[in-house]
Amino acid sequence: MSFIVAIDGPAGTGKGTITKLIAKEMGLVNIDTGAMYRSITLECLNNGINSALSIVEDKEKIIEIAKKCKIEIEHIGEEQKIILNGKDVSKEIRSSEVTALVSPISSIPEVREIMVDLQRKMAEEKDVIMEGRDITTVVFPNANVKIYLDADVEERAKRRYKENIEKGIETTYDEVLKSIKERDENDKNKKVGALKIAKDAIIVDTTKLNIEQVKEEVKNIITEKLK
Ligand code: C5P
Repeated sequence: MSFIVAIDGPAGTGKGTITKLIAKEMGLVNIDTGAMYRSITLECLNNGINSALSIVEDKEKIIEIAKKCKIEIEHIGEEQKIILNGKDVSKEIRSSEVTALVSPISSIPEVREIMVDLQRKMAEEKDVIMEGRDITTVVFPNANVKIYLDADVEERAKRRYKENIEKGIETTYDEVLKSIKERDENDKNKKVGALKIAKDAIIVDTTKLNIEQVKEEVKNIITEKLK
């Protein structure tokens, strides 16, 4: 049996950065499940599904796309590359077009079923740290470590805005705040795989903590469980 660290939480809590750092320091394989839903969304956009209305109308087509997509996560040193049908899409999946549609697309139960299966397979025979929205509740309800990262919405928007600027993604703070609030609302109200706090998850509020402090806190929780 592999050792599984499951981390959930809303956008902008630092999940991605923290899991990457901890994976490296503790010898775990890092799996970003948001990137997997983003890859499906990118493939939908490439197939002309580009609005909330078309998501409703083209549900069957989206399910077919999800079935056919080949998603791989390659680890090269510290970097994690997302390979969609043989192509590196690590950068494209962070665009605002993908961000706007990923939550409704990941609300389709059949899409989730395909992704959850794949996520479970990725953790077979490997010690992993997996982050997302339903990892502690649906994908690995019996994970060795279950953590819920949280932070105030304004602080999360501030962090995501700064990240976007650094990556050259053009947005304003207000747009980022609005987009995060919409995603929070949609993610918390999904019929399947909704973002919620597992009753046995340890909550870490990162609002007033820097990355180093969050990393140390999460590492301590994992180390405690390894004893
Ligand atoms: O983590 P990230 O913000 O990249 O995730 C993008 C979106 O993918 C989330 O807003 C959520 O709608 C969806 N997601 C999900 N289940 C997961 C991970 C992400 O529904 N396990």
